[in-house]
Amino acid sequence: AIYERIEEIEDDVQAYMTLTKEVALDKAKKVDEMLANGEEISPLAGIPVAIKDNMCTEGIKTTCSSNILHNFKPPYNATVVEKLDNADTIMIGKTNLDEFAMGSSTENSGFFTTKNPWDLERVPGGSSGGSAAAVAAGEALISLGSDTGGSIRQPAALCGVVGMKPTYGFVSRYGLVAFASSLDQIGPFSKDVTDCALALNYICGHGPHDSTSVDREVPDFTEALVDDVSEMKIGIPKEYFGEGIDAEVKEAVEAAIEKLEELGATCEEVSLPHTEYALPTYYLIAPAEASSNLARYDGVRYGYRSENADGLIDMFKKTRSEGFGDEVKRRIMLGTYALSSGYYDAYYLKAQKVRTLIKDDFEKVFEDYDVIISPTSPSTAFKIGEKSDDPLQMYMSDLCTIPANLAGIPGISIPCGFDSEGLPIGLQFLGNHFAEEKLIQVAYAFE
Ligand code: GLN
Repeated sequence: AIYERIEEIEDDVQAYMTLTKEVALDKAKKVDEMLANGEEISPLAGIPVAIKDNMCTEGIKTTCSSNILHNFKPPYNATVVEKLDNADTIMIGKTNLDEFAMGSSTENSGFFTTKNPWDLERVPGGSSGGSAAAVAAGEALISLGSDTGGSIRQPAALCGVVGMKPTYGFVSRYGLVAFASSLDQIGPFSKDVTDCALALNYICGHGPHDSTSVDREVPDFTEALVDDVSEMKIGIPKEYFGEGIDAEVKEAVEAAIEKLEELGATCEEVSLPHTEYALPTYYLIAPAEASSNLARYDGVRYGYRSENADGLIDMFKKTRSEGFGDEVKRRIMLGTYALSSGYYDAYYLKAQKVRTLIKDDFEKVFEDYDVIISPTSPSTAFKIGEKSDDPLQMYMSDLCTIPANLAGIPGISIPCGFDSEGLPIGLQFLGNHFAEEKLIQVAYAFE
């Protein structure tokens, strides 16, 4: 049924980079047999899932939507891919993204732009736009994305689905192609909060191949699906409702706050005073880490290699010049600059210090509050091409999502109505480290 739906709509939406139909149908047969034999199956058995194309899949192309990896077939599976496979889900295909997850619209994909299923002239958000669009369009029931500065939550908001970034370290990053290693985190997209909790049950937990993965017991997140917020204290950070937030988005979030109050929650204004430094801090740290992580693409070991090079150094240069797109090059240059000797103290080190202040802001608020509420994205889905010539405008899309990555805390985006053009609006809840259950609870009660 899912492939029929894909047949129907994929030419318009273009969520997928690669479809893995043969493997999927084989797996479906296997699950059928398990059922017929009365074997014990997981609650996710047979569920069609989509994987962002920056997570390694053994023998199946993993491009990161970059020409430099156009032909890369990894020899191993990412831990999350392995875990979903063990839960007997069925992988439908690999989804489109902004090249190396750098962007907020999928327009930076080296191959094509995914369309927003609600309005095909608009972007689905990004960088996990393909994964968000696939779930929104019924081309998968659950998908995985990665969130370095908002790349799960922002596209979830723009496509009207649920998207969650767990606490840094709660999901193994082994096999996720690194963008900014201290910020990257894998998480699920789903149609509702129940499916999100189910997916978390299977993807969270220690992975021995990721040294930043936390060895901590994974709770049963479905137990947090409790329709009660009467004990909840919710902080409303005034800095997230200021300039740059669309009036209709603000109204919808304010209405959501009223609804939560009616449900019995206590909602009060709080302050996260260093919020204004989050974007500049992120755009030093993320490119710095990216410039280092992306040094490995040199045409020697795997991926694209320029054909018309004159010697080794020329081969490096031409391979990287021809293989990377503009946004990736911009980040490599920014990052290399910020890390160079003489500038390191002024930029990178300074940014790390500000990062600590941003984290401290959150910790202070979480001493008194269970969760924080805010818009997910300053606007609803924008038109394709509207922001693509103006990187700074594009960077503003992540105003409300980036601070959580800097602090390493979890965040969830859930739908909260539509604007006057019928486009979905997203509501974000943030929680303290490992407070995923509170996020699930408040999101479920609101939904
Ligand atoms: N849009 C942000 C960026 O371009 C965040 C991307 C992400 O979370 N992967 O860096």
